[in-house]
Amino acid sequence: MQDPNSLDRREFVKLGLAVAVTAPLPIDAARAADLPKLSEDDPTAKALGYRHDTNAVDQARFPNHKPDQNCANCKLIQGEASGDWIRCQLFPGKLVNTNGWCAGWVKKA
Ligand code: SF4
Repeated sequence: MQDPNSLDRREFVKLGLAVAVTAPLPIDAARAADLPKLSEDDPTAKALGYRHDTNAVDQARFPNHKPDQNCANCKLIQGEASGDWIRCQLFPGKLVNTNGWCAGWVKKA
């Protein structure tokens, strides 16, 4: 005799599908974790003066750069950070460092 409190196989499968369909997934975090980190040697990164550390920016080349400007407070970041790394609209498919900076920096509102 089956325990009235237990799920039979069919009910278990239905419940599993319902959970799979309705449970929110941390898509941004999952995707961010899978992306490679932007290299400072990437041609676009070099052109924009990107550095993983805002304190390492070439101040002579980018005199308007301020040390308190970084990717974490830039308007062009996307989604949630994965550790110290986050997606950026200027470098699709790559992660930039939250403490990084490039000439595309725009103050986050
Ligand atoms: Fe960082 Fe903003 Fe430059 Fe992207 S555009 S690399 S978030 S400073």
